Amino acid sequence: MALKRSRYPLQGVTYVRMTKCPCGYEFSDYERRSEHFLEDHTADDVPGLSNRGDRA
Ligand SMILES: [Zn+2]
Repeated sequence: MALKRSRYPLQGVTYVRMTKCPCGYEFSDYERRSEHFLEDHTADDVPGLSNRGDRA
Protein backbone atom coordinates (compact mmCIF):
# COMPACT_ATOMS: atom_id res chain seq x y z
CA MET A 1 0.00 0.00 0.00
CA ALA A 2 1.44 3.36 -0.98
CA LEU A 3 1.20 6.06 1.61
CA LYS A 4 1.93 9.74 1.39
CA ARG A 5 2.70 11.74 4.48
CA SER A 6 1.75 15.39 4.65
CA ARG A 7 2.70 17.55 7.60
CA TYR A 8 0.79 20.60 8.66
CA PRO A 9 2.95 22.04 11.46
CA LEU A 10 0.60 24.93 12.13
CA GLN A 11 -2.20 22.55 12.94
CA GLY A 12 0.19 20.14 14.59
CA VAL A 13 -1.08 17.22 12.59
CA THR A 14 0.34 14.79 10.11
CA TYR A 15 -1.93 13.37 7.50
CA VAL A 16 -1.21 10.00 6.04
CA ARG A 17 -3.24 9.42 2.98
CA MET A 18 -3.28 6.50 0.66
CA THR A 19 -1.99 7.16 -2.80
CA LYS A 20 -2.78 3.70 -4.00
CA CYS A 21 -5.37 1.20 -2.97
CA PRO A 22 -4.35 -2.38 -2.17
CA CYS A 23 -6.40 -3.42 -5.21
CA GLY A 24 -4.09 -1.40 -7.46
CA TYR A 25 -6.35 1.58 -7.94
CA GLU A 26 -4.47 4.89 -7.84
CA PHE A 27 -6.12 7.82 -6.18
CA SER A 28 -5.85 11.31 -7.52
CA ASP A 29 -4.71 13.91 -5.01
CA TYR A 30 -8.09 15.34 -4.21
CA GLU A 31 -10.20 12.27 -4.70
CA ARG A 32 -12.12 11.19 -1.68
CA ARG A 33 -10.83 7.78 -0.67
CA SER A 34 -14.12 6.77 0.81
CA GLU A 35 -15.85 6.98 -2.55
CA HIS A 36 -13.62 4.34 -4.05
CA PHE A 37 -14.01 2.09 -1.05
CA LEU A 38 -17.74 2.48 -1.01
CA GLU A 39 -18.06 1.78 -4.70
CA ASP A 40 -15.49 -0.94 -5.23
CA HIS A 41 -15.04 -2.56 -1.84
CA THR A 42 -16.79 -3.81 1.19
CA ALA A 43 -15.40 -3.54 4.70
CA ASP A 44 -14.26 -7.14 4.40
CA ASP A 45 -11.84 -6.16 1.65
CA VAL A 46 -10.02 -3.71 3.87
CA PRO A 47 -10.12 -4.95 7.46
CA GLY A 48 -8.16 -1.97 8.73
CA LEU A 49 -10.95 0.35 7.69
CA SER A 50 -13.62 -1.70 9.33
CA ASN A 51 -14.66 -0.49 12.75
CA ARG A 52 -16.95 -3.36 13.56
CA GLY A 53 -14.38 -4.64 16.03
CA ASP A 54 -14.98 -8.29 15.34
CA ARG A 55 -12.31 -10.88 14.73
CA ALA A 56 -12.12 -13.59 12.12
ZN1 LIG B 1 -9.45 -0.48 -4.21
